[in-house]
Amino acid sequence: MLKTPAWAAPSATEPLAPFAIERREPGPHEVLIDIRYCGVCHSDIHQARDDWGGSIFPMVPGHEIVGTVVKVGNQVERWKEGDTVGVGCFVDSCRHCEACLDGEEQFCSEGMSVTYNGYERTDGKLDKSRPTWGGYSTRITVDENYVLRVPEGIPLDRAAPLLCAGITTYSPLRRYDVGKDDKVAVVGLGGLGHMGVKLAKAMGAHVTVLSHSPGKRDSALALGADDFLSTRDEDVFAQHAGRFDFILDTVSAAHDYNAYLGLLRRDGTMVLVGLPEPQALSAGSLIRGRKRLTGSLIGGIRETQEMLDFCAEYGVAADVEVIGIEQINEAYERMLRGDVRYRFVIDNDSLRKPEAA
Ligand code: NAP
Ligand code: ZN
Ligand code: ZN
Repeated sequence: MLKTPAWAAPSATEPLAPFAIERREPGPHEVLIDIRYCGVCHSDIHQARDDWGGSIFPMVPGHEIVGTVVKVGNQVERWKEGDTVGVGCFVDSCRHCEACLDGEEQFCSEGMSVTYNGYERTDGKLDKSRPTWGGYSTRITVDENYVLRVPEGIPLDRAAPLLCAGITTYSPLRRYDVGKDDKVAVVGLGGLGHMGVKLAKAMGAHVTVLSHSPGKRDSALALGADDFLSTRDEDVFAQHAGRFDFILDTVSAAHDYNAYLGLLRRDGTMVLVGLPEPQALSAGSLIRGRKRLTGSLIGGIRETQEMLDFCAEYGVAADVEVIGIEQINEAYERMLRGDVRYRFVIDNDSLRKPEAA
């Protein structure tokens, strides 16, 4: 086993602190990755604070991982030492259910092995004696089929958030064929939201940001948004009723879905990717205008690779603030205050320093 420095949340109510874990030597089909950067997703906060229930502690969060392959198992064909790779929100799945066979491993009927706050598999089955540990650590051992190629040309720190924020916004934009001149609204300008703006723009859409932070107007426009509406202004919902073809809702906290559905045109689609506590929904919000409300969960391995290649082709990458691991608890507080432009990314070298371990 490989003793590996990490940071963990000991419980839902304590700050993250140094914690040593062990990684396994790569098996025949596995690779060992030295982690260079790891993005900080709002889902890390939800899970470290047990907002969704069922969290497993201690927890080493982090599912926006980029790094370098340093060792490969003797039957690995896809990767070699020195390759620049990524690991997203899951590290394994059953591989034989309908979803897995369709390349939509995120919907594995036996449950995917999420990168942290979940379990590794033994003989293909989730094994509760083997918790997964995420990217707030210096290295990770992963099956070769659950690793992504990070294309050249994307700065590595700015690539890390693509592994969750990127694919989570790319997948629904693609699924609902967002394209040239579609009127798209992105609700919430955080890690996911700012990727939604960049990706929808790259696909040719006319993009409006809806934000409860009026101070984000200038940076929203600088990110490429065509328009910005402050939802603090209640008139916005009446003035812009029926305006949008497609709404991507990335908000992490409770808000009124019905109000946003009012902004959709007839037959428009609103996709929820933000995952706050349950909210009331009125049937009338959908019936009047035959509107569609749906959700989306990250993306499969194939689509995640497609997204990375798309980002390289269109010059899309996250806007990041690089931090040392010792700033992680402060970063969580700042994210909860909406004070991040637009993704914190951990420089994992900070975990390699003796004082952080
Ligand atoms: P984030 O960076 O913290 O951004 C969330 C944004 O939501 C904030 O920047 C803010 O934007 C808005 N917001 C926050 N509190 C609000 C409030 N009280 N009222 C209205 N708007 C508020 O978070 P993230 O990493 O992008 O994640 C967003 C959500 O997506 C989280 O719930 C996360 O768990 C979920 N998620 C889902 C998936 C999936 O597969 N479906 C994947 C990753 C993450 P403004 O300041 O612009 O209003
Ligand atoms: Zn995430
Ligand atoms: Zn499966």
